[in-house]
Amino acid sequence: MSAPSSSPEYEVLALRYATTGPDRRRRENFLSGADAHDGPMPMDYYVWAIRNADRVVVVDTGFGPEAAARRRRTLLHEPADLLRRAGIEPEAVTDVILTHLHYDHAGGLAAFPRARFHLQDAEMAFATGRYVCHACLRAPFDLEDVVSTVRLTYQGRVVFHDGDAELFPGISVHRIGGHSGGLQAVRVATRRGPLVLASDAFHFRENRLRRSPFPIVFHVGQMLEGYRRCEELACGQDDLMIPGHDPDVGRRWPALAGDVSDVVRLDLPPIAPWSDSEPGE
Ligand SMILES: [Zn+2]
Ligand SMILES: [Zn+2]
Repeated sequence: MSAPSSSPEYEVLALRYATTGPDRRRRENFLSGADAHDGPMPMDYYVWAIRNADRVVVVDTGFGPEAAARRRRTLLHEPADLLRRAGIEPEAVTDVILTHLHYDHAGGLAAFPRARFHLQDAEMAFATGRYVCHACLRAPFDLEDVVSTVRLTYQGRVVFHDGDAELFPGISVHRIGGHSGGLQAVRVATRRGPLVLASDAFHFRENRLRRSPFPIVFHVGQMLEGYRRCEELACGQDDLMIPGHDPDVGRRWPALAGDVSDVVRLDLPPIAPWSDSEPGE
């Protein structure tokens, strides 16, 4: 249900820190890869930040140069540097939401020495349990990130959630699963309505619109239900659902004021249409 009207509203930033570059193909982004028209479909990598006068919450931590080189991604910015450019000191951040533990979301834990990390029980169980005995399910994890998360747990710095939870007035997490065992989306109260940071619940808007899952998936049924859940959380409003890896996000929303490249304001209305003109609904 909607938050009461007295709920605070937040500024929400998407910070684009890496990209696959132009060579990635459409067929790599859909489970049913035999898409009628193959062609380039690059993927971008983001972290997100939520802030108002009272608090700052960071969503996901990105990856650094070592993972970028090993996995052949183009690192545009160190995520922590990009946060600093947006006026957020990672060293001072007290709350980080980890949507899931894949390398591109949990590869920068060390940049947040004072933070507690919000994670679903199911994601920790998944990342440390029987399913990662299978190479294709463990491939998107980097072991050192998982080990670091276990270490943080032993330090009392992981806050576990089981399903839906309100972390602060106007900021809640929602377990989706699907893509990873315990993926969670984040819902934030903004001036234009309840914004849903879907993370990898859907990488591209087109995955959701066409009900055509991204190929890295643990449970296809949960992923399909997750599209519906995100739509429900965003009250069905397309422009309030933010895909996790869609280059359109960096193009459609207005830049953060000042000379900060690759940071956009999601709490403001979009300034351009979606680029995929044929979602084929
Ligand atoms: Zn992922
Ligand atoms: Zn991802």
